[in-house]
Amino acid sequence: MEKKRIHAIEDLCTGCRLCQLVCSLENTNEFNPKKANINVAHIDEQGIYIPVVDCDNDDCSSKSDNKIPKCVQVCAPGALIYSTINEAAEMKKDLVRKRAVQPLFKVFAPWKWPFPWKEWPFEKVENNGK
Ligand code: SF4
Ligand code: SF4
Repeated sequence: MEKKRIHAIEDLCTGCRLCQLVCSLENTNEFNPKKANINVAHIDEQGIYIPVVDCDNDDCSSKSDNKIPKCVQVCAPGALIYSTINEAAEMKKDLVRKRAVQPLFKVFAPWKWPFPWKEWPFEKVENNGK
């Protein structure tokens, strides 16, 4: 079976570093982002954040009730996903498609959206709502 791992969708990362805090608490009983197995780097020139994971996730996912690593659970915008490579590729494709019809998904992942949603009616928009 294809192994799951953590994938980052960098342009959804806000740099909140909650993933780092929760990881350090989980693994060292300390709120100390420097001791986390995930590091969120800020790239000054581009003004973006890049989460870099340095662990195999196995321990963490088996400890949590729903088998999802804590860092992924706390990432509010959905910038971290725990999936196989194929699943991650499908989720990324879905994100691109949904962003084209719902700009909200430029800052928030569809898999974190708690409500049912409908695609924007493109034809109506193009025909001024007629
Ligand atoms: S990956 Fe998620 S939890 Fe971590 S800093 Fe980025 S937005 Fe915050
Ligand atoms: S999977 Fe667990 S150990 Fe690895 S970065 Fe996430 S919280 Fe830390």
